[in-house]
Amino acid sequence: MTHMHVAGEIHANVASPAPVWLTRPDDVNALTTKLWSSTVRRTDDGVIEVGGVAVTDVVEQFGTPVYLLDEADFRERARAWREAFAGWTVFYAGKAFLSATVAGWVAEEGLSLDVCSYGELLVALRAGFDPARIGHHGNNKSVDELRLALTSGVGRIIVDSSDEISRLEELCAELGVKAKVMVRVTTGVEAHTHEYIATAHEDQKFGFSVSSGQALVGMFRCHHSPYLELLGVHSHIGSQIFDTHGFEVATRRTLKLFAQFKEATGLEMPQLDLGGGFGIAYTKEDDPEAVENLAGSLREIVDHECRAFSLTVPEISLEPGRAIVGPAGMAVYRVGTVKPVDIGGGLARRYLSVDGGMSDNIRPALYAAEYSAALANRDSAAEPVVSRVVGLHCESGDILVRHEFLPGDVSVGDLLAVPASGAYSRSMASNYNHTPRPPVVAVRDGRATVVLRRETMDDLLALDAGLKSEA
Ligand SMILES: *Cc1c(COP(=O)(O)O)cnc(C)c1O
Repeated sequence: MTHMHVAGEIHANVASPAPVWLTRPDDVNALTTKLWSSTVRRTDDGVIEVGGVAVTDVVEQFGTPVYLLDEADFRERARAWREAFAGWTVFYAGKAFLSATVAGWVAEEGLSLDVCSYGELLVALRAGFDPARIGHHGNNKSVDELRLALTSGVGRIIVDSSDEISRLEELCAELGVKAKVMVRVTTGVEAHTHEYIATAHEDQKFGFSVSSGQALVGMFRCHHSPYLELLGVHSHIGSQIFDTHGFEVATRRTLKLFAQFKEATGLEMPQLDLGGGFGIAYTKEDDPEAVENLAGSLREIVDHECRAFSLTVPEISLEPGRAIVGPAGMAVYRVGTVKPVDIGGGLARRYLSVDGGMSDNIRPALYAAEYSAALANRDSAAEPVVSRVVGLHCESGDILVRHEFLPGDVSVGDLLAVPASGAYSRSMASNYNHTPRPPVVAVRDGRATVVLRRETMDDLLALDAGLKSEA
């Protein structure tokens, strides 16, 4: 059909539309365990099933695109984090994906919850999440947002600037309350995927910088304020991180602040938060550490650095978002067009256009994130072909899966499933091109339950003040 060459050991030196890391699968129907949530399997008739529900059945009921959330997998991961980090506090980072149902799972599995906007805080409170176990982030929290946090009794507010401290003090004075705060510091460590940098300067918007001395100034200001109770220091170094070395440098730099604070006040600060950012597998190339091993490494780092600074080990907390909800989710799309495109050098790339795109997953366009995909409604005996899964939006950068081997007979009407779509997909979704956002459906023990319903065209049209209602 095309003059496509596949990558792989035999063909490694032959021009190919596939990147070197993407090897030709022996079995294109096989589902690589680390990419899929724990209950995913292919049934005897070839259909992908999750939570005991065939994706074809879910699609019949809810349409495409649709996000499926494997409840058992989410709960298993939440539990694994809580157990591996027993004695520490694990906050689920709600910005990865939050809804009332998910807030309930988080509470039931004994995790605390991070929010970083008025809306996320409101969802958590309306869902009945214990406010004392909520951490509240944000570099530009509004007065209304801080008021809601204070009146509802949020457990800790992570202050990000002097302006915020002033706003908070005024509100505390007005409401007659004392706010529990942590100071967000910028350690100069930036970590993304396999690389991290540890520089002396910090050219970004978050937190109080350590190197400039602002961090200590902020800590002293909170400590001396009659309106604030300083709990400790907060550091978050990045996302999709696979290596603990960045955490080691950040821990050293934050604990040095603890030591300086102790020297000046004679007091040890009770809490340290090391943030989130723990990586997951989006492609076969990603190899995240098992959470038990991660826990071992991080405990060792904290113990070592505390000894070095002669500090009592403080209460430690972490904030994984992606690592808990990311692998639990998959997105399912329907193929609408199949187009072989000549890309020069006698090579072709097969473009599969689906009924979603950058409006339901912005990460490939925003961060050049890589994803994987599999044929979901059937298996196939056809040869694997290097394919690119693209969306319906009017942008050539509207790519969902840049490189994947998919069966050569994928055709119009087939379903494609994209694993590891639980985090930062629905939560970052937009209405670009007037596209209603897809629903999130939880699956468990053969049952499918809507967590967030599909947006409708009517939802979108209702916002347009220039349109007359048809009623
Ligand atoms: C985004 C964020 C997290 C969660 O990051 P993940 O990569 O999803 O683990 C945790 N803490 C803070 C402060 C964040 O901004």
